Amino acid sequence: MRDKLIRVGLFASLFLIMQPVLLPEITYGQTGEIAVPAPAPRAVQNRVSAPRKMDVEAESNEVEGEAKEICLAALGSIATVSSTEAPVTDDAGCGVENPVSLTAVNGQSGGIRMPGDMLNKCSFALQLTHWLSDVVNPLAKQHLGSAIVAVRSGPGFVCRRRNNQPTGKLSEHAFGNAIDIVGFKLENGGSFNVKQADSLPPSEALFLNALRKTACGYFTTVLGPGSNPAHATHLHLDMGIHGKTNNYRICE
Ligand SMILES: [Zn+2]
Repeated sequence: MRDKLIRVGLFASLFLIMQPVLLPEITYGQTGEIAVPAPAPRAVQNRVSAPRKMDVEAESNEVEGEAKEICLAALGSIATVSSTEAPVTDDAGCGVENPVSLTAVNGQSGGIRMPGDMLNKCSFALQLTHWLSDVVNPLAKQHLGSAIVAVRSGPGFVCRRRNNQPTGKLSEHAFGNAIDIVGFKLENGGSFNVKQADSLPPSEALFLNALRKTACGYFTTVLGPGSNPAHATHLHLDMGIHGKTNNYRICE
């Protein structure tokens, strides 16, 4: 009996000594949960074949088509607009992506008419519509005592270089990504024309100042009276990208 007890005792001691070898290591986290060691990473065996050029082109056309549909739907809900053909130009550098013709910005008081020959990139027309409807009209009522019923402007798309120079970079107008606003017609029969703020009545000067400040949140370039002689009588607004992202603004 004593021998049997000694054998059992020896076996138990041997088990305790060998325990770290016989049992897998289990550790406990701070909250008492069992922390299971992560399996060793296995080499990735899958081979990904490079996409074929035709697949990429088809996919890019599809994404472009979807973007156009989304833009047209968004614009159509707040403006009178028609999709139009891309402009034909002699200059290979000019062109408009997703071209649209904006006729009017919808809203109360019959909306805001645009000149009949507008041609812009859809994303630009959408941004312009939001600014006119959400910002310009309330500002006009506040400062001029009347809503605006029409925009006086250039056509948006013009195949030319910056500031009408014969050489240099193409203007954002060459991509339908800009507009030159000359003034507005007001519901009360009056009008507002862009010019040097110090030559305007105080309420109109405040209105012009507010237009320029707010436009800087909607567009990436805002030029007007005082920027340079070429912009003495209109506001140039565009959505060109300065640098690597569209976060940088030029607001003068
Ligand atoms: Zn311009």
